[in-house]
Amino acid sequence: MEESSYSKDKLYARLYDYSKKYIPYKSLSKLGIENLSPQKLAKFSITIGSNAVFGILSYLLIVFFKPFPDKSPLYLTLLTIVVLSAFLGGLNSALLTTIIISSETYFFLEAYYKTNLELTLYVQLVFFISGAIIISYLINLARENSEVKRLKIQEKKYADTFIKLHDEYRIAIKNIKARDEFLAMVSHELKTPLTIMLLKLHSMLNSVQRESLANFSIPQLMKVLKNSEQQIKWLKSMINDLLDISLITTGRMNLLLEDTDLASVTKQVEQSFSELLKREKYKIKINTNSPVIGKWDKVRIEQVITNLLSNAIKYGERKPIDIRVFKSGNQGKFIIKDEGIGILPQEQKVIFDLFKRTTGQEKYRKGLGVGLFITSQIIKIHGGKIKVSSIPAKGTSFTVELPLKK
Ligand code: ADP
Repeated sequence: MEESSYSKDKLYARLYDYSKKYIPYKSLSKLGIENLSPQKLAKFSITIGSNAVFGILSYLLIVFFKPFPDKSPLYLTLLTIVVLSAFLGGLNSALLTTIIISSETYFFLEAYYKTNLELTLYVQLVFFISGAIIISYLINLARENSEVKRLKIQEKKYADTFIKLHDEYRIAIKNIKARDEFLAMVSHELKTPLTIMLLKLHSMLNSVQRESLANFSIPQLMKVLKNSEQQIKWLKSMINDLLDISLITTGRMNLLLEDTDLASVTKQVEQSFSELLKREKYKIKINTNSPVIGKWDKVRIEQVITNLLSNAIKYGERKPIDIRVFKSGNQGKFIIKDEGIGILPQEQKVIFDLFKRTTGQEKYRKGLGVGLFITSQIIKIHGGKIKVSSIPAKGTSFTVELPLKK
């Protein structure tokens, strides 16, 4: 369909270019006929041109059939010409052809019938003209129907394209809005730790300038330094997350695949949290017997486990956390289960999206809503899957599946 309308357009354009040689467009535009499109002009030329050709053809036929007394074959042949004309040029062209042919017939056959037979010629002509009109009308109807069908298909195609473009536009607007909100949030999140650090340093500097360093006890100094260290760590993790997002969204996150044991990585991560776990009085249980080795990026897998464990601590309400690492078929599985605040069913669908946080957890520690996005993307790049199941106020369980063989 597309091909044929494309080739038609090409034909029209060629005809138009060709016609420029012979048609004085400048003078036409002076007459007010400026809006002559290549399509209109080509159709017009085809209609007039085909009529001229058919007129000459019928003229030759009439001259050729003239000596025969029975005119039926002649009229049938002339009718074929009208049919052809209707088929190519539509109703107007067929009517024009009918008029040309009837005039020619009348002009040439009049002499043949002579005076007393004139009525027969008129009757024959009336039959011919009515037959030609009916046939032209029917052919035109069929032509229009097929044109309507073609236009309907095209209309549907345009409607589909419009809907697609509209959807893309809506997504783009949504993304721009999300990016603006994100920039506002990131600026705020980056500013807060810096402001806190700056305030603390200021007050320290003031005290030292006004009084002396001797007034500072080591524990006081340590407190300020520890706080600064924490703020810097938070800043660093935020900047790392932002860099990861940029790597993921631009498809530049490359993996360094090596033999990695999921069980020992889990234990290492848990060790790195030991101080916090002790301080927050968390009980954590890791169930794993044998190594679960696959070709994975060790650092990225560490990042996944760290994200999931830190969320379990963050939203786990100080209740026990249970971790299981095992092989299942050709998958390495990691399941982490907490008994914390849980996630509403409708929110479970969006927590892996960028910048999505569940409602009402603002009071639980700060966060950008990027950890699970990065986690799920790292797993996806490894060819694995992550699933969540949760009951609000009862707890949450995340299951990670990683292919043991690529
Ligand atoms: P955030 O920095 O906000 O923790 P994440 O992408 O890690 O970002 O998590 C997205 C959201 O999913 C969190 O804001 C939280 O609402 C919800 N969430 C993640 N893990 C848990 C969990 N273990 N229990 C309850 N809610 C969770």
